[in-house]
Amino acid sequence: MSSIVLANAKLLDPSEGIDGPGHVGVKDGMIAYIGADLEAARAAAGSGAAEVDAGGLLLTPGLIDMHVHFREPGNEAEETIASGSMAAVAGGFTSVVCMPNTEPAIDTESAITFTRREARRAGLANVFPVGCVTKGRKGEELAEMAQMARGGAVAYSDDGAAVPTAGLLRRALTYAKMLDKPVMEHCEDVSLVAGGVMDEGYMSTALGLKGVPDESEEIIVARDVALARLTGGRVHIQHVSTANSVEIIRHAKAAGVPVTAEVTPHHLSLTSDRCKNYDPVFKVAPPLRTMVDVEACRRGLKDGTIDVIASDHAPHHAEEKEREFAFAPTGMIGLETTVGVVSTALVRDGGFTWAELIPAMTSRASDILGLGRGRLRVGLPGDLTLIDPDLEWTVDAARFRSRSRNCPFDGWALKGRAVATIVGGRLAFALEG
Ligand SMILES: [Zn+2]
Ligand SMILES: [Zn+2]
Repeated sequence: MSSIVLANAKLLDPSEGIDGPGHVGVKDGMIAYIGADLEAARAAAGSGAAEVDAGGLLLTPGLIDMHVHFREPGNEAEETIASGSMAAVAGGFTSVVCMPNTEPAIDTESAITFTRREARRAGLANVFPVGCVTKGRKGEELAEMAQMARGGAVAYSDDGAAVPTAGLLRRALTYAKMLDKPVMEHCEDVSLVAGGVMDEGYMSTALGLKGVPDESEEIIVARDVALARLTGGRVHIQHVSTANSVEIIRHAKAAGVPVTAEVTPHHLSLTSDRCKNYDPVFKVAPPLRTMVDVEACRRGLKDGTIDVIASDHAPHHAEEKEREFAFAPTGMIGLETTVGVVSTALVRDGGFTWAELIPAMTSRASDILGLGRGRLRVGLPGDLTLIDPDLEWTVDAARFRSRSRNCPFDGWALKGRAVATIVGGRLAFALEG
């Protein structure tokens, strides 16, 4: 079934100037009607179409998460492409962009093809693979970027680490520019991280844990901005975490440098104080910072300096993640909590409107990566997300579709949740009850 009518919704897509009651008709996987006439929506969808009454809830373009980790190949106990796709649609995401730091890393055309084939087999979310910048993520020689693009890679990243030298990134950006794709950078200078496990500051001193200074991120952000200016290649800064990073990106954008940026729900809502009980669920790279940084990230999101909200969904097996803080792996899962956390921390408590947030979760990621979706527009793929902004629910990580449980929001009372996810005109998820 790839034809469907979404009736009686509150349509919201600021990128298309849409904000008001209406109906959407999807025929054979593509949006065929958007507007106020329900009979026209039904006619456009055709006689075999399913119909869902949206009951006045918020209907947005299908949400896009441009930064997730599925652990296939290599660590299928933590997440597979299929389980990650289930987690995605359960969280309201119709499209996800997979980082290549699997084992082995996604650094060839055939590895890109494998990811796409497994995603098609799962048949739930659209999965767009990112290829490595360097072979094996070793930071030594460039991977076969053009071949990976031919196989369907939408961008390049050595996520988990930055490209180690400016010379190598210069060459990567030069190629990426010819291929019209961005290089996505995990901005941390390893010589400054130097074994640090949390934000460097009062808390790290009080806890006796080695800190990671803000500058470890900012030095790489500044370097990457300079190389984007030098090459004209597009740099996308992943998971911005510090106030000065936001400021560097703001200046770069004002100067016309081709740089974009994302921020995670956890860097928009949690601070390093959370580490006080040595609970490794709060260990993440870059680390949780201070309230000053959280507020700067929020301002950056509000004024467009930060383009996108992305989860950095990073599943880890409990046995590994529950080690002593200093030795636990970094990362948190996020696909099934992003909508609720953003809705609660930013809309209910943070002075944001949904109209300010939806482009950061839809059209902008599509524009950065050339995905050709993320908008309520006739002729685009019928990817839609139905959100109940007032639904109050309690996070129960034990019930997640993800294979991993390393969720820092477990037990939180949240307001707002995706209640139905439509991918290519097919109902891929509907909240029970
Ligand atoms: Zn990263
Ligand atoms: Zn990541």
